[in-house]
Amino acid sequence: MLNLWFFALSRLFGIFATAWVLGWIVGDTFEWASFLLSAYLLIYLKNLYRLDRWLITRKVDLPEARGMWGNVFYQIYRLQRRNRKRKRKLTDMLRRFQNSTAAMPDATVVLNAQHRIEWFNKAAVKLLGLQTQDINIPINNLLRHPHFTDYLYRNPHSIKESSIKIPSPLHPEHILRIHLVPYDTNMRLLIARDVTEVQHLEQVRQDFVANVSHELRTPLTVITGFIETMQDSIDNQALREWEHPLNLMAQQASRMQNIVNDLLLLSRLESEVPQNLRKIVDIPRILSNIEQDALALSGNQQHHIESFIDQHLKIYGQPDELTSAFSNIVFNAVRYTPAGGKIIIRWYRDDLAGYFSVEDTGEGIAEQHIPRLTERFYRVDVGRSRNHGGTGLGLAIVKHVLQRHHAKLHIHSQLSKGSTFTCVFPLSAFVITKKL
Ligand code: ADP
Repeated sequence: MLNLWFFALSRLFGIFATAWVLGWIVGDTFEWASFLLSAYLLIYLKNLYRLDRWLITRKVDLPEARGMWGNVFYQIYRLQRRNRKRKRKLTDMLRRFQNSTAAMPDATVVLNAQHRIEWFNKAAVKLLGLQTQDINIPINNLLRHPHFTDYLYRNPHSIKESSIKIPSPLHPEHILRIHLVPYDTNMRLLIARDVTEVQHLEQVRQDFVANVSHELRTPLTVITGFIETMQDSIDNQALREWEHPLNLMAQQASRMQNIVNDLLLLSRLESEVPQNLRKIVDIPRILSNIEQDALALSGNQQHHIESFIDQHLKIYGQPDELTSAFSNIVFNAVRYTPAGGKIIIRWYRDDLAGYFSVEDTGEGIAEQHIPRLTERFYRVDVGRSRNHGGTGLGLAIVKHVLQRHHAKLHIHSQLSKGSTFTCVFPLSAFVITKKL
């Protein structure tokens, strides 16, 4: 490279030297210099013209040139070749990406900031009925379900529901799960999957549990009725030896009744769309009743139950469901805390959220069990739960009730130290009242 520069400079120097020699021999040094420099400039212009033509015609072959110009041509040629390779690689990658997305069984649609369709794959044609002429059309003009419009216009970064289920616009008997994934600054990827089969199986499971529970209800009521009648006539000498078995039967029958009731409540929570969540619920009054019931449940175990309740704090929700969830947590604290233990119930809010928490000094729960506690029938110690009259469904009910109220459950526990169950409600759930 340095050589070429040296060569170009020495050529310029040669021009001046020749002009000087010619000027010395025949005179007019300045004219000779101008003439030789013009000839040199012409050669430069010719090469510049060739470069320009070469770039415009995009010819692949390298134009012939020597010296500095040869090097310029070669460097541009190398740059072009590298760019061409990179472009080919990128195009290949893009094609491969588009092919794989197109082959995906889920419908994939790229939406811009105005919710207009920019691109979609083959599955979107089959599942959503999109056609080529739909490019640049707002997606809500084609998917006209109110649930979807609601989901689409919600702030993508504060989406509570990560996906929704709606009937397919092509075949309403098919159910689609729609997922909107934000990317870049304002773009969104819509992914739709046919979940009809899963939904059907889920429905069958729900109906089965609800029907079995319902069918068991009447025989259980009859059996419990007879057991109670027999217990009432225990004075009768002939029945005296049945006293113990009858008590056991009554106990088990009541356990079964509790399970059936909890199962029915759970299937109602799962299948019914949340309604009446705008009722004002007087939580302090509900908690005062639950505290009385907890004291009764504790009986002669003498738990110390304390409560710190903000008496002005009411929320919008469903009173029966919230009563059921809160009492499950409080009664669990009584059941799993040894006699004389301490239980603290709190109901308060701060600038971020509202909290219902129950802290106990009970046996605590090992860390590995905590993520699974809200599963149906999951119990750390089955025998112990049964002895306490537990159904194993309490925390599953809590989870569903909280989900319907857009609230979350946090469990913090340490073995042999105690546990704290906290329900966190969004501020939007709270009724605004003036404090006295
Ligand atoms: P159960 O009817 O068995 O109490 P739950 O769903 O209410 O069913 O609770 C599930 C399990 O969680 C219980 O079996 C128990 O092992 C554990 N658990 C719940 N609350 C507490 C608590 N406050 N302290 C210790 N363990 C608890």
